[in-house]
Amino acid sequence: MGKKKTKKKTAKKATKKKVAKKKTAKKATKKKVAKKKTAKKVTKKKVAKKKTAKKVTKKKVAKKKDNLTKNLEDSLLELLRVSSTIIPDDVQKVVLKALKAEAENTSAKYAMDIIDANIKLAKMKSQPICQDTGTIIFKVYHPPGFYKQKFQKSCEKAVLKATKMGYLRQNSVHSLTGKNDCMNVGGGHPQMHFIEHNKKTIEVKCMLKGGGCENVGAQYALPYPPLNAGRDLDGVRKVILDAVQKAQGKGCGPGTLGICIGGDRGSGHVHAKDQLLRKMDDNNPIKELDDLEKDIVATANKLGIGPMGFGGKTTLLSCKIGHLNRLPASFYVSISYMCWAYRRQGISLKSNNTINKWLY
Ligand code: SF4
Repeated sequence: MGKKKTKKKTAKKATKKKVAKKKTAKKATKKKVAKKKTAKKVTKKKVAKKKTAKKVTKKKVAKKKDNLTKNLEDSLLELLRVSSTIIPDDVQKVVLKALKAEAENTSAKYAMDIIDANIKLAKMKSQPICQDTGTIIFKVYHPPGFYKQKFQKSCEKAVLKATKMGYLRQNSVHSLTGKNDCMNVGGGHPQMHFIEHNKKTIEVKCMLKGGGCENVGAQYALPYPPLNAGRDLDGVRKVILDAVQKAQGKGCGPGTLGICIGGDRGSGHVHAKDQLLRKMDDNNPIKELDDLEKDIVATANKLGIGPMGFGGKTTLLSCKIGHLNRLPASFYVSISYMCWAYRRQGISLKSNNTINKWLY
Protein backbone atom coordinates (compact mmCIF):
# COMPACT_ATOMS: atom_id res chain seq x y z
CA MET A 1 0.00 0.00 0.00
CA GLY A 2 2.79 2.35 1.03
CA LYS A 3 4.56 1.84 -2.26
CA LYS A 4 1.42 2.45 -4.31
CA LYS A 5 0.78 5.78 -2.55
CA THR A 6 4.33 6.86 -3.17
CA LYS A 7 4.00 5.99 -6.87
CA LYS A 8 0.78 7.98 -7.20
CA LYS A 9 2.38 11.01 -5.53
CA THR A 10 5.36 10.80 -7.84
CA ALA A 11 3.05 10.54 -10.89
CA LYS A 12 1.08 13.59 -9.73
CA LYS A 13 4.28 15.57 -9.26
CA ALA A 14 5.42 14.58 -12.75
CA THR A 15 2.09 15.65 -14.26
CA LYS A 16 2.30 18.97 -12.42
CA LYS A 17 5.78 19.49 -13.73
CA LYS A 18 4.63 18.71 -17.25
CA VAL A 19 1.74 21.18 -16.98
CA ALA A 20 4.13 23.81 -15.63
CA LYS A 21 6.53 23.11 -18.47
CA LYS A 22 3.71 23.41 -21.00
CA LYS A 23 2.66 26.75 -19.44
CA THR A 24 6.22 28.04 -19.63
CA ALA A 25 6.44 26.87 -23.24
CA LYS A 26 3.16 28.63 -24.05
CA LYS A 27 4.40 31.83 -22.41
CA ALA A 28 7.63 31.63 -24.39
CA THR A 29 5.67 31.12 -27.64
CA LYS A 30 3.45 34.10 -26.78
CA LYS A 31 6.54 36.20 -26.11
CA LYS A 32 8.03 35.11 -29.43
CA VAL A 33 4.82 35.98 -31.29
CA ALA A 34 4.73 39.37 -29.56
CA LYS A 35 8.37 39.95 -30.50
CA LYS A 36 7.66 39.05 -34.12
CA LYS A 37 4.69 41.41 -34.16
CA THR A 38 6.84 44.23 -32.77
CA ALA A 39 9.54 43.47 -35.35
CA LYS A 40 6.94 43.59 -38.13
CA LYS A 41 5.63 46.92 -36.82
CA VAL A 42 9.17 48.32 -36.75
CA THR A 43 9.78 47.10 -40.32
CA LYS A 44 6.49 48.66 -41.46
CA LYS A 45 7.47 51.93 -39.82
CA LYS A 46 10.86 51.83 -41.49
CA VAL A 47 9.27 51.19 -44.91
CA ALA A 48 6.82 54.04 -44.32
CA LYS A 49 9.71 56.28 -43.34
CA LYS A 50 11.61 55.36 -46.47
CA LYS A 51 8.54 56.07 -48.61
CA THR A 52 8.11 59.47 -46.97
CA ALA A 53 11.80 60.22 -47.50
CA LYS A 54 11.46 59.25 -51.17
CA LYS A 55 8.39 61.49 -51.54
CA VAL A 56 10.25 64.39 -49.92
CA THR A 57 13.24 63.85 -52.25
CA LYS A 58 10.93 63.69 -55.27
CA LYS A 59 9.21 66.89 -54.17
CA LYS A 60 12.60 68.57 -53.64
CA VAL A 61 13.79 67.51 -57.13
CA ALA A 62 10.53 68.71 -58.70
CA LYS A 63 10.83 72.03 -56.85
CA LYS A 64 14.44 72.42 -58.00
CA LYS A 65 13.37 71.76 -61.60
CA ASP A 66 10.52 74.27 -61.27
CA ASN A 67 12.91 76.85 -59.88
CA LEU A 68 15.43 76.26 -62.69
CA THR A 69 12.71 76.68 -65.33
CA LYS A 70 11.34 79.79 -63.66
CA ASN A 71 14.81 81.31 -63.26
CA LEU A 72 15.56 80.62 -66.93
CA GLU A 73 12.33 82.23 -68.13
CA ASP A 74 12.95 85.25 -65.90
CA SER A 75 16.53 85.60 -67.18
CA LEU A 76 15.41 85.34 -70.82
CA LEU A 77 12.64 87.86 -70.23
CA GLU A 78 15.17 90.30 -68.78
CA LEU A 79 17.49 89.65 -71.74
CA LEU A 80 14.64 90.52 -74.12
CA ARG A 81 13.67 93.61 -72.14
CA VAL A 82 17.21 94.97 -72.12
CA SER A 83 17.80 94.03 -75.78
CA SER A 84 14.66 95.86 -76.85
CA THR A 85 14.96 98.98 -74.73
CA ILE A 86 18.66 99.68 -74.17
CA ILE A 87 21.34 100.16 -76.81
CA PRO A 88 24.52 98.35 -75.72
CA ASP A 89 27.35 100.53 -74.42
CA ASP A 90 29.74 99.80 -77.30
CA VAL A 91 27.09 100.93 -79.83
CA GLN A 92 26.06 103.95 -77.75
CA LYS A 93 29.66 105.20 -77.75
CA VAL A 94 29.85 105.10 -81.54
CA VAL A 95 26.44 106.78 -81.91
CA LEU A 96 27.54 109.63 -79.61
CA LYS A 97 30.78 110.01 -81.58
CA ALA A 98 28.72 110.29 -84.78
CA LEU A 99 26.40 112.83 -83.17
CA LYS A 100 29.38 115.04 -82.29
CA ALA A 101 30.83 114.68 -85.78
CA GLU A 102 27.81 116.20 -87.55
CA ALA A 103 27.75 119.97 -88.09
CA GLU A 104 25.27 122.17 -86.19
CA ASN A 105 22.01 123.18 -87.90
CA THR A 106 22.16 120.42 -90.47
CA SER A 107 19.59 117.71 -91.23
CA ALA A 108 22.23 115.15 -90.29
CA LYS A 109 22.64 116.72 -86.84
CA TYR A 110 18.85 116.88 -86.47
CA ALA A 111 18.53 113.17 -87.37
CA MET A 112 21.29 112.19 -84.94
CA ASP A 113 19.69 114.31 -82.17
CA ILE A 114 16.40 112.47 -82.68
CA ILE A 115 18.18 109.12 -82.61
CA ASP A 116 19.99 110.11 -79.41
CA ALA A 117 16.76 111.33 -77.76
CA ASN A 118 14.99 108.14 -78.82
CA ILE A 119 17.71 105.99 -77.24
CA LYS A 120 17.55 107.94 -73.96
CA LEU A 121 13.74 107.90 -73.78
CA ALA A 122 13.51 104.17 -74.46
CA LYS A 123 16.01 103.45 -71.71
CA MET A 124 14.30 105.75 -69.21
CA LYS A 125 10.80 104.40 -69.88
CA SER A 126 11.87 100.81 -70.51
CA GLN A 127 10.02 100.93 -73.81
CA PRO A 128 11.04 99.51 -77.20
CA ILE A 129 13.62 101.63 -79.02
CA CYS A 130 11.75 101.12 -82.29
CA GLN A 131 8.22 100.16 -83.34
CA ASP A 132 9.74 97.40 -85.46
CA THR A 133 10.60 94.56 -83.06
CA GLY A 134 12.56 92.90 -85.84
CA THR A 135 13.34 89.22 -86.12
CA ILE A 136 14.09 87.88 -82.65
CA ILE A 137 17.27 85.84 -82.98
CA PHE A 138 18.61 83.72 -80.12
CA LYS A 139 22.12 82.30 -80.24
CA VAL A 140 22.52 79.74 -77.47
CA TYR A 141 26.07 78.61 -76.66
CA HIS A 142 25.85 75.45 -74.57
CA PRO A 143 28.02 72.64 -73.14
CA PRO A 144 27.80 69.07 -74.53
CA GLY A 145 24.70 67.04 -73.58
CA PHE A 146 22.37 70.01 -73.62
CA TYR A 147 18.56 69.60 -73.88
CA LYS A 148 17.57 72.00 -76.68
CA GLN A 149 13.78 71.51 -76.97
CA LYS A 150 13.10 72.51 -73.38
CA PHE A 151 15.34 75.56 -73.72
CA GLN A 152 13.55 76.64 -76.89
CA LYS A 153 10.21 76.39 -75.09
CA SER A 154 11.53 78.69 -72.37
CA CYS A 155 12.68 81.17 -75.04
CA GLU A 156 9.21 81.12 -76.60
CA LYS A 157 7.55 81.61 -73.23
CA ALA A 158 9.84 84.56 -72.52
CA VAL A 159 8.97 86.08 -75.92
CA LEU A 160 5.23 85.69 -75.20
CA LYS A 161 5.64 87.34 -71.82
CA ALA A 162 7.82 90.16 -73.18
CA THR A 163 5.21 90.79 -75.88
CA LYS A 164 2.37 90.85 -73.33
CA MET A 165 4.37 93.25 -71.15
CA GLY A 166 5.01 95.57 -74.08
CA TYR A 167 8.79 95.12 -74.27
CA LEU A 168 8.32 93.67 -77.76
CA ARG A 169 5.80 95.05 -80.22
CA GLN A 170 3.49 92.49 -81.88
CA ASN A 171 5.38 92.04 -85.08
CA SER A 172 5.30 88.47 -86.39
CA VAL A 173 3.00 87.79 -89.34
CA HIS A 174 1.92 84.54 -91.06
CA SER A 175 3.51 84.68 -94.50
CA LEU A 176 0.54 83.15 -96.40
CA THR A 177 -2.43 84.67 -94.60
CA GLY A 178 -0.84 87.91 -93.46
CA LYS A 179 -2.42 87.29 -90.06
CA ASN A 180 -0.70 88.68 -86.98
CA ASP A 181 -1.58 86.60 -83.92
CA CYS A 182 0.08 89.30 -81.83
CA MET A 183 2.36 86.84 -80.00
CA ASN A 184 5.69 87.05 -81.89
CA VAL A 185 5.89 83.23 -81.80
CA GLY A 186 5.39 80.73 -84.65
CA GLY A 187 6.92 79.58 -87.93
CA GLY A 188 10.60 80.23 -87.21
CA HIS A 189 9.93 83.03 -84.72
CA PRO A 190 11.88 83.38 -82.56
CA GLN A 191 14.83 82.19 -84.62
CA MET A 192 16.91 79.68 -82.65
CA HIS A 193 20.57 78.81 -83.17
CA PHE A 194 22.31 76.31 -80.86
CA ILE A 195 26.09 76.22 -80.78
CA GLU A 196 28.03 73.72 -78.66
CA HIS A 197 31.05 75.20 -76.90
CA ASN A 198 33.73 73.88 -74.53
CA LYS A 199 32.62 75.89 -71.51
CA LYS A 200 30.45 74.40 -68.76
CA THR A 201 28.21 77.45 -68.71
CA ILE A 202 25.36 78.55 -70.98
CA GLU A 203 25.54 81.87 -72.81
CA VAL A 204 22.61 83.37 -74.66
CA LYS A 205 22.87 86.19 -77.19
CA CYS A 206 19.80 87.94 -78.50
CA MET A 207 19.53 90.17 -81.55
CA LEU A 208 16.47 92.08 -82.73
CA LYS A 209 17.10 92.51 -86.44
CA GLY A 210 14.92 95.22 -87.95
CA GLY A 211 12.93 94.59 -91.13
CA GLY A 212 13.80 97.87 -92.89
CA CYS A 213 17.52 97.24 -92.60
CA GLU A 214 17.09 93.56 -93.49
CA ASN A 215 15.50 94.72 -96.77
CA VAL A 216 18.72 96.44 -97.83
CA GLY A 217 20.91 93.41 -97.14
CA ALA A 218 22.47 92.02 -100.30
CA GLN A 219 24.39 89.15 -101.81
CA TYR A 220 26.78 89.40 -104.74
CA ALA A 221 28.30 86.58 -106.79
CA LEU A 222 31.79 87.44 -107.95
CA PRO A 223 32.90 88.16 -110.56
CA TYR A 224 30.34 90.95 -110.86
CA PRO A 225 30.79 92.53 -114.31
CA PRO A 226 28.60 95.68 -113.78
CA LEU A 227 31.21 96.90 -111.24
CA ASN A 228 34.16 95.15 -112.80
CA ALA A 229 34.49 93.35 -109.45
CA GLY A 230 36.69 90.27 -109.56
CA ARG A 231 37.28 87.45 -107.15
CA ASP A 232 39.63 89.28 -104.80
CA LEU A 233 39.46 91.73 -101.90
CA ASP A 234 39.24 94.67 -104.30
CA GLY A 235 36.19 93.05 -105.88
CA VAL A 236 34.76 92.49 -102.40
CA ARG A 237 35.33 96.16 -101.58
CA LYS A 238 33.55 97.29 -104.75
CA VAL A 239 30.38 95.29 -104.09
CA ILE A 240 30.22 96.32 -100.41
CA LEU A 241 30.36 100.00 -101.34
CA ASP A 242 27.77 99.37 -104.06
CA ALA A 243 25.44 97.93 -101.41
CA VAL A 244 25.98 101.03 -99.25
CA GLN A 245 25.10 103.28 -102.21
CA LYS A 246 21.97 101.28 -102.94
CA ALA A 247 20.85 101.42 -99.28
CA GLN A 248 20.98 105.20 -99.12
CA GLY A 249 17.83 106.71 -97.67
CA LYS A 250 16.61 103.25 -96.66
CA GLY A 251 17.39 100.92 -93.79
CA CYS A 252 17.45 103.66 -91.12
CA GLY A 253 21.12 104.67 -91.20
CA PRO A 254 23.68 105.25 -89.98
CA GLY A 255 24.19 101.54 -90.30
CA THR A 256 26.63 98.82 -89.46
CA LEU A 257 27.61 96.15 -91.96
CA GLY A 258 28.13 92.46 -91.23
CA ILE A 259 29.87 90.83 -94.17
CA CYS A 260 30.72 87.27 -95.10
CA ILE A 261 33.17 86.46 -97.86
CA GLY A 262 32.48 82.94 -99.18
CA GLY A 263 30.16 80.21 -97.94
CA ASP A 264 27.03 79.41 -99.95
CA ARG A 265 23.90 81.54 -100.34
CA GLY A 266 22.49 80.33 -97.00
CA SER A 267 25.55 80.07 -94.76
CA GLY A 268 26.92 83.33 -96.18
CA HIS A 269 23.94 85.34 -94.93
CA VAL A 270 23.98 83.65 -91.50
CA HIS A 271 27.71 84.28 -91.07
CA ALA A 272 27.31 87.89 -92.22
CA LYS A 273 24.70 88.44 -89.50
CA ASP A 274 26.98 86.73 -86.94
CA GLN A 275 29.55 89.48 -87.56
CA LEU A 276 27.04 91.89 -85.99
CA LEU A 277 27.55 90.06 -82.69
CA ARG A 278 31.13 91.34 -82.56
CA LYS A 279 31.85 94.39 -80.41
CA MET A 280 32.03 97.69 -82.25
CA ASP A 281 35.55 98.45 -81.03
CA ASP A 282 37.15 95.07 -81.69
CA ASN A 283 39.82 94.49 -84.31
CA ASN A 284 39.68 91.83 -86.98
CA PRO A 285 42.49 89.32 -86.26
CA ILE A 286 43.19 89.08 -90.02
CA LYS A 287 45.11 92.19 -90.99
CA GLU A 288 43.78 92.40 -94.57
CA LEU A 289 40.20 92.20 -93.32
CA ASP A 290 40.87 94.66 -90.50
CA ASP A 291 42.24 97.14 -93.04
CA LEU A 292 39.26 96.54 -95.32
CA GLU A 293 36.78 97.09 -92.46
CA LYS A 294 38.34 100.47 -91.64
CA ASP A 295 38.62 101.45 -95.28
CA ILE A 296 34.94 100.66 -95.95
CA VAL A 297 33.79 102.85 -93.02
CA ALA A 298 36.09 105.74 -93.96
CA THR A 299 35.11 105.59 -97.66
CA ALA A 300 31.37 105.21 -96.99
CA ASN A 301 31.45 108.20 -94.66
CA LYS A 302 32.84 110.33 -97.49
CA LEU A 303 29.89 109.47 -99.75
CA GLY A 304 27.73 112.18 -98.16
CA ILE A 305 24.73 109.87 -97.65
CA GLY A 306 24.57 110.59 -93.90
CA PRO A 307 22.08 109.66 -91.16
CA MET A 308 18.70 108.59 -92.64
CA GLY A 309 20.09 109.61 -96.04
CA PHE A 310 19.80 113.33 -95.13
CA GLY A 311 23.42 114.00 -96.10
CA GLY A 312 26.26 114.35 -93.59
CA LYS A 313 29.36 112.67 -92.32
CA THR A 314 27.99 109.45 -90.83
CA THR A 315 26.78 106.84 -93.28
CA LEU A 316 28.28 103.86 -91.51
CA LEU A 317 29.02 103.35 -87.83
CA SER A 318 31.04 100.21 -88.35
CA CYS A 319 31.84 97.30 -90.65
CA LYS A 320 32.72 93.74 -89.62
CA ILE A 321 33.96 91.15 -92.08
CA GLY A 322 34.23 87.38 -91.69
CA HIS A 323 34.90 84.58 -94.13
CA LEU A 324 33.87 80.97 -94.86
CA ASN A 325 35.30 78.45 -97.27
CA ARG A 326 33.62 78.39 -100.67
CA LEU A 327 33.44 76.12 -103.70
CA PRO A 328 35.78 76.86 -106.59
CA ALA A 329 32.66 77.47 -108.70
CA SER A 330 31.26 80.27 -106.54
CA PHE A 331 32.40 83.38 -104.68
CA TYR A 332 29.64 85.06 -102.72
CA VAL A 333 29.81 88.27 -100.74
CA SER A 334 26.88 88.41 -98.32
CA ILE A 335 25.98 91.69 -96.67
CA SER A 336 23.80 92.16 -93.61
CA TYR A 337 22.87 95.76 -92.82
CA MET A 338 22.01 96.75 -89.25
CA CYS A 339 20.15 100.02 -88.63
CA TRP A 340 21.01 102.59 -85.94
CA ALA A 341 18.61 100.69 -83.61
CA TYR A 342 21.35 98.14 -83.10
CA ARG A 343 19.70 95.88 -80.56
CA ARG A 344 21.74 92.96 -79.33
CA GLN A 345 22.61 91.76 -75.87
CA GLY A 346 23.93 88.64 -74.22
CA ILE A 347 23.98 86.93 -70.85
CA SER A 348 25.87 84.10 -69.23
CA LEU A 349 23.86 82.01 -66.80
CA LYS A 350 24.73 80.66 -63.35
CA SER A 351 24.05 76.99 -62.60
CA ASN A 352 20.64 77.97 -61.16
CA ASN A 353 19.84 79.81 -64.45
CA THR A 354 19.92 83.31 -62.97
CA ILE A 355 21.99 85.92 -64.82
CA ASN A 356 25.68 85.76 -64.02
CA LYS A 357 26.86 88.61 -66.23
CA TRP A 358 25.99 90.69 -69.29
CA LEU A 359 28.08 90.14 -72.39
CA TYR A 360 27.88 93.63 -73.96
S1 SF4 B 1 15.11 99.35 -89.75
FE1 SF4 B 1 15.65 99.58 -87.62
S2 SF4 B 1 15.25 101.69 -87.04
FE2 SF4 B 1 14.26 101.26 -89.01
S3 SF4 B 1 12.17 100.72 -88.45
FE3 SF4 B 1 13.31 98.82 -88.60
S4 SF4 B 1 14.14 98.44 -86.55
FE4 SF4 B 1 13.44 100.53 -86.61
